[in-house]
Amino acid sequence: MKKIEGETVLRKLEKGIGLGKKSFPLLSSKDAFEILVATVLSQNTTDVNTARTVRRLRDTIGITPNSISKAGLRELKSAIRTSGLYNVKAKVLKKLARIVVKNYGGHIEKVFEKPLEEARNELMSLPGVGPKTADVILLFAGGKKTFPIDTHVFRVSRRLGLIGLRDGYEEARGKLMKTFPSDSYLKTHLLLIEHGRKTCRARKPLCHSCVLLEYCSFGQGLLKKD
Ligand code: SF4
Repeated sequence: MKKIEGETVLRKLEKGIGLGKKSFPLLSSKDAFEILVATVLSQNTTDVNTARTVRRLRDTIGITPNSISKAGLRELKSAIRTSGLYNVKAKVLKKLARIVVKNYGGHIEKVFEKPLEEARNELMSLPGVGPKTADVILLFAGGKKTFPIDTHVFRVSRRLGLIGLRDGYEEARGKLMKTFPSDSYLKTHLLLIEHGRKTCRARKPLCHSCVLLEYCSFGQGLLKKD
């Protein structure tokens, strides 16, 4: 089995996958607060629902710390009801908006002035913000060199042996940051997600047509069983 290099994964996936804004609603915004709101809304729902809810919230209340902190809770719930768990999410958004107004003067992007790990810890101290959400905001809006890991990135990376089967979020993040060139983190993150959605699916991955099959003992093992 050939040992796989990060640059090879990147090159092979780049050739085979097109990245569109439709597949990644977060790509349509560079506004840190909007990305923060979108990632909260995306929890436990699909990208299609998230994109629809973000549009609706933007058109009704607006997506700024001021507009959300001043909105009535009932009005906010109604605006985001398409995202699921809207009672909880509305309360989280209100809390977040108030903190951003109070502690950052309405500009959460001030956090990007701090060193990466300090900024990350500060974001993770906010309600509803875990390591993945913090990394998404830092990478997408702040252009920081960090690597968010969602369920697709975890699965594909495990199957390819880029991370260990039992690695948690922080271990996996550390390994992927060493594996891929730091100026490719955003692109690699998106390519791994798209590969996980379309080819390396959780159930019945399409290994026979995968551009990474020659490097993947997991996929080759599955094909032998068929
Ligand atoms: S060969 Fe199969 S398991 Fe391996 S990366 Fe490709 S789709 Fe995933």
